[in-house]
Amino acid sequence: MKRIWAILIGVLLLAGCTKEGAAPQVVPEPTTAVTAEPATAVPTVLVKQHIIIDAAPKATSMPKESPTPTRSPSLTPSPEPTATPEPTPEPGPLAGIIIGLDPGHQLIYDPAPEPVAPGARETKQKVAGGCKGIRSGVYEYEVNLNVGLLLRDLLKEAGATVVMTHEVLDVNISNAQRAQMFNEAKVDLGIRLHCNKGNDYKLVGAFMIVPTQNRTQFYDENVRAAKTILAAYCEETGLTTRFDEGMTYRSDQAGFNWCERPVLTIEMGHLTNPGEDALLSSPAFQARMAQGLFNGILRYFRPDLAEAANE
Ligand SMILES: [Zn+2]
Repeated sequence: MKRIWAILIGVLLLAGCTKEGAAPQVVPEPTTAVTAEPATAVPTVLVKQHIIIDAAPKATSMPKESPTPTRSPSLTPSPEPTATPEPTPEPGPLAGIIIGLDPGHQLIYDPAPEPVAPGARETKQKVAGGCKGIRSGVYEYEVNLNVGLLLRDLLKEAGATVVMTHEVLDVNISNAQRAQMFNEAKVDLGIRLHCNKGNDYKLVGAFMIVPTQNRTQFYDENVRAAKTILAAYCEETGLTTRFDEGMTYRSDQAGFNWCERPVLTIEMGHLTNPGEDALLSSPAFQARMAQGLFNGILRYFRPDLAEAANE
C-alpha cells in the first residue's frame, strides 16, 4: 500500500511539475500581456521626450499631450520681452530724463529747401551731405550714427529715456523734422551729433554749437550743457577743443530754430584732419567718444553724483 501511495503521490507531483513547466512555453496569455503593456507604455515616454525636444512633429499623434507643446512655446518667448524692461528695478541716475539724439545727416542727402525757422523766408537744404574722412573715406553720417547708437545704450543703462531721430542710415528726415521730433518727445536735452570739415586739413578739435540767444528760450541751459559735455568729451577722448572755449553760436540752423527744447550740436572732431580722421573712424575710439558724451550728460544732469565721485 505504501508503495501504491508513493507512486500515486509521485505521479501527482510529476503531473504538477509538467503543468508548471509547460505553462511558460505554451500559455500565450503572459506573452501577449507582457508585450501589450510595454508597447503602450514605452511610446508614451518616448513621445513625451520628443515633445520637449521638437514640439511640432509628435504633437498631432498625442492629442492628450497637446497642452505641453502649447505651454512650452508660450512660456519661452513671454518671459523675454517682459524681462527686458524689468531687470532694472532700481532707478538709474538718469531716470526720468529724456535725451534726444540726432545723428547728423543720412545715407542720401536731401537738397530740397526748407525754411531755416518757422515762417522764415530764408531756406536751407533739408539734409546736407556731410563730410568724409580724408584718408579713411568713412562718411560722417556713419560716425555720427555709430556714436549715437553707443551713446543711446549708455544712456538707457543709466535709466534715461532716449529718443533718436533715426537708428538706420537709409532715412529721409529733414533737420526741421528732427527738431520737431525733439519737441514732440519733450526732450530735456537734444544733442545733434556731427563731425566737422575744415577748410584746412590742419584744423583739429571738437567744439559746440548752440542757438543764439534770440533763437531759444533755453540759452543759459544750452551753454551750460554744452560746456559741461564738451569738457567731459575732451577728457575722455584726449581731443582738444577748437576755438577758445570750444563754443560757437548760430542763428541760421533749422535744427535749432524749429526746436522748442534745450538743444546743442557737438562737432566731435575734424574728418578732414588725417590724425582725427583715423581716430573718429575707428570703432574703438567711437566707443570712447560715446563714453565721453555720456560722462558729460551725467555730469550736467547729476552734478551731485559728479561731486560725490570727486570727493
Ligand atoms: Zn555734419
